[in-house]
Amino acid sequence: MSGTGSLYQELILDLSRHPRAKGLHDGADASSHQVNPTCGDEVTVQLHLDGDVVRAVRWDGEGCAISQASASILAELAPGLTLDDLGSRIALFRTAMRSKGRIEPDEELLGDAVALGGVSKYTARVKCAMLPWVAAEDALAHRAA
Ligand code: ZN
Repeated sequence: MSGTGSLYQELILDLSRHPRAKGLHDGADASSHQVNPTCGDEVTVQLHLDGDVVRAVRWDGEGCAISQASASILAELAPGLTLDDLGSRIALFRTAMRSKGRIEPDEELLGDAVALGGVSKYTARVKCAMLPWVAAEDALAHRAA
C-alpha cells in the first residue's frame, strides 16, 4: 500500500478512537437515524443551524471504524456551509464513493473525506462510509418538507 494510503488509514483509525463532535445536543433543527444492517453500523446525525447555514453537526452512533470516522469527518466539514452547499458536498461524496475507485474525493470540497476515497473500491464498505452522509441528507430533506 502507498504511503498516502497508510496515512489515510491512520486518520480513519485515529478518528474512530478520538471522534469529533460526538454526542447529541438539545435543540437540533433536524436529525436522522440511519442503520446499515449489513455491517451493524448505526448513526444519528443532528443539524444545528443558523438560518440557512450549518452551525454544528452533532452525531452519535456505533459501528465499524469507517462509519464512525466518516461521521467525524462530516461533522468537521459541515459547519459554515449553507444547506445548499452541504447538499452538494453530500452528492459529490456519493459520486466518489460509488465510483469504484475511479473518482477521488475532492479534498478542497470534501476535506478529510479524501481519506475515505480508497473505500470506494470495496462495495461492501461504501454503505459504511456513506451512512452519516445519508443521515445528514435525510435530515436536510425532512427539514425542507
Ligand atoms: Zn461498517
